[in-house]
Amino acid sequence: METYLDTIQPDLINVTRLFGLPDTVWEEPVRFRLTCGEEAGCFRCTWAESSVRAERFADIPFDADPRLRELHRRRAARRLCRQTLYDLCRQVTGIHPPWGSLTGIRPTRLLYEALEQGAPDVEAAAARVVRDFDVTIEKAALLAEAVSTQLTLPPPGDQWADVYVGIPFCPTRCAYCSFSSGELGDGKLVEPYLKALLWEMADAAGLLKATGRLPRAVYIGGGTPTSLSASQLERLLAAVNACFPGHLELTVEAGRPDTLDRDKLRVIREGGAGRISINPQSMNDRTLKVIGRAHTARQVEEAYALAREEGIHHINMDVIAGLPGEHPADFARTMEAALRLRPESLTVHTLAIKRSSRLHFENAPLPDAAEAAEMVRLGTQTAHALGQKAYYLYRQKQMAGNQENVGYALPGHACLYNVDIMEETTHIIAVGAGGISKRVYPEEGHIGRAPNVSNIAQYIERVGEMGERKWGLFGTGEERGKG
Ligand code: SF4
Repeated sequence: METYLDTIQPDLINVTRLFGLPDTVWEEPVRFRLTCGEEAGCFRCTWAESSVRAERFADIPFDADPRLRELHRRRAARRLCRQTLYDLCRQVTGIHPPWGSLTGIRPTRLLYEALEQGAPDVEAAAARVVRDFDVTIEKAALLAEAVSTQLTLPPPGDQWADVYVGIPFCPTRCAYCSFSSGELGDGKLVEPYLKALLWEMADAAGLLKATGRLPRAVYIGGGTPTSLSASQLERLLAAVNACFPGHLELTVEAGRPDTLDRDKLRVIREGGAGRISINPQSMNDRTLKVIGRAHTARQVEEAYALAREEGIHHINMDVIAGLPGEHPADFARTMEAALRLRPESLTVHTLAIKRSSRLHFENAPLPDAAEAAEMVRLGTQTAHALGQKAYYLYRQKQMAGNQENVGYALPGHACLYNVDIMEETTHIIAVGAGGISKRVYPEEGHIGRAPNVSNIAQYIERVGEMGERKWGLFGTGEERGKG
């Protein structure tokens, strides 16, 4: 069995991190001792620390194909090693991580797998996730809620492609941001950027046509698309509608309330966007200042009122649990505002400190696990009080308290694009700086990628090459001639 564990160290570190144990537990002499082997057709694994020990056995898988046999054995041995270490850490620390032993795997995927393997319904599939991965009952219920909603949406298929349109400009840069967005600055790059983007959109429309695919969900994100002027937004939306007619959904990120005015909201509504996102992240002015957002909580309230006056019927609200200096009482104030403003969908992120963010460079601490859990619980409670249900859910590395990000929505308001991008079941055609086009191969469990350059000036200069990359991923040069 040992030979199958040659490169498992990063996985083991992820397990000990679930329990808040420092990586130093893996420095020599290591704190945890592993013994493993094969006995009577089983793998045996024991992890021990002082007088505490955990032991598990697993059947050694058999496959007639020697290559697959090795692959399945390796997987089984590694899973057993991780699970047993997880058992030991639970005993040593007394902690029950909210998502049990799950690291680096999409929880919704496990539920779908359980359904494919014959679980009679979503609840039974969620119960399997509890049994096999020690996920808590509360998180399993959330998972079941999200998958139940997803099953009501138009199913994915090879005939569809989602379209992502990136506007990489923001008024200022948020402290937690890891996206490839540039500050708007003097705005000189906006016009040349739009020109390149409109060219790339027309080229992508040709690609869809040549490969016989239909536009499914269109998402204009960034960045902050409403950093553009009303007339620029109008041109952009006209081009989106001309290039991708018949789409099932159109979202415009209007993330920063300080970028909105009546004209832009009117243009967005007339441009056919059925959903916009106005994101406070926090409704505490002190926090907004700390995280580098140049607006106040009051401006958020004003932007919501203006959007309603302009006839916008679906507003999504993004908030973040665990922002620097915030405790559950601060997050509760943000949730009170959500109850007042009544967005049709609420997305509750848990702070994750990414390597390219300012918070990472400032060594900002994450809140403690119990506080993060309480804030996330308040988020769920608020969404339910608004009549919303979870519809997508994902986890990232380095999240406060090992929690998750969840999108909630009123019935009939789930964002198809958000589900598609997280479940990785639909092709994505991405245009704009930093966008990543994806071609999914569900049978093979493989995803092909064609990334665009992130640097705005480079993108403008090399937009033709970005088009070629997409054609290389989805089609052929011959088809390009026809498109
Ligand atoms: S609004 Fe979004 S894209 Fe812009 S800086 Fe903030 S997190 Fe980054």
